[in-house]
Amino acid sequence: MKKTVAFSKNSTNVFFHILTRCNLRCRHCYINPAQHGDNTLPIATIIEWLRLFYTPGRDANLVLLGGEPTLHPDLAAAVTAARDIGYASVTIDTNGYLFNDILDRVSPDMVDFFSFSLDGPEPAINDPIRGEGSFDRCVAGIGDAVARSFSTSLIFTASAQNIASLVHMPPLLRKLGVKRFFIQIIGIRGRLAAGGEDNLQVSRQDWEAIVPGVASQVAESGITVTWPRVFLGPDEVFECAGKVAGDYFIFPNGRVYRCPLCEDFPIHSMEIRDGRLIKRPKITETDLFDLDIAEGCVMNRLIQGGNVAYGKDGACEFKIACCLLKEEMAVKSRT
Ligand code: SF4
Ligand code: SF4
Repeated sequence: MKKTVAFSKNSTNVFFHILTRCNLRCRHCYINPAQHGDNTLPIATIIEWLRLFYTPGRDANLVLLGGEPTLHPDLAAAVTAARDIGYASVTIDTNGYLFNDILDRVSPDMVDFFSFSLDGPEPAINDPIRGEGSFDRCVAGIGDAVARSFSTSLIFTASAQNIASLVHMPPLLRKLGVKRFFIQIIGIRGRLAAGGEDNLQVSRQDWEAIVPGVASQVAESGITVTWPRVFLGPDEVFECAGKVAGDYFIFPNGRVYRCPLCEDFPIHSMEIRDGRLIKRPKITETDLFDLDIAEGCVMNRLIQGGNVAYGKDGACEFKIACCLLKEEMAVKSRT
């Protein structure tokens, strides 16, 4: 039932932030305009950059995101271009407000998934995190997408503020008709890293007591569920996706990262300049990927080491997995 999603060098996953502007101001937003830019990419540039990351004969999956990508007036044209270029799948990540009548301008055969973000099973939990009224708007947006036969998924970012409410998500997921559920763990980056917030990191105890059980329940109802591995057991092998996977995180100022936890710092391994993808000189994130430390993920240790535990002898009790290492569970529905 449960499997670890192996990193693959044979496919490319492109996470393309086509703008950083957003109508919401979520507490945990990782967007950092000082590092990522505040421009909206023209459609001609989007198409040019999409071509840079596509290699004929190699599977390429595209996630279009922002900011709020539906604020981009040419999002539908970006989807069409990606399909024409040859991207195998296209997902649109949205906060649910679905601006610019996007559902009227793309079709289910062009968009594999609309992926919505909701951080609680009710407004009282979601809205203090994502903004007043955002629960109702997101639920309405999912309803509109499902009614038009789009496949939908839901992303829940777990923090100390909302993880207890995760157990109430399965009935909501069934009611909404989503096909996939992604549980993420909060990262100390973007707005949270800028300070002024309580510590919202989730403890190992809470994560292990809640997440696998909820995942089983969700999978039992026929919804595929994916969540990050986070805490590795003593016999589990640590791998850094920056070294062994084909993931690219592109921002509108032309920065290209291989690791999401590096995105608050100017250590991106590549950038797009004058329409060309160039490797940056040392020191970049790539140099960090090679460091071998007892705590596992180097960037986790540097920016959010509060989730690491040490024994009385000072030895690290467990390794933290790469934030991109996922578990997945799918069970065929019995109905
Ligand atoms: S919807 Fe996304 S981009 Fe907008 S504020 Fe929230 S986390 Fe940030
Ligand atoms: S999260 Fe850690 S392990 Fe994963 S790519 Fe970044 S540095 Fe490597």
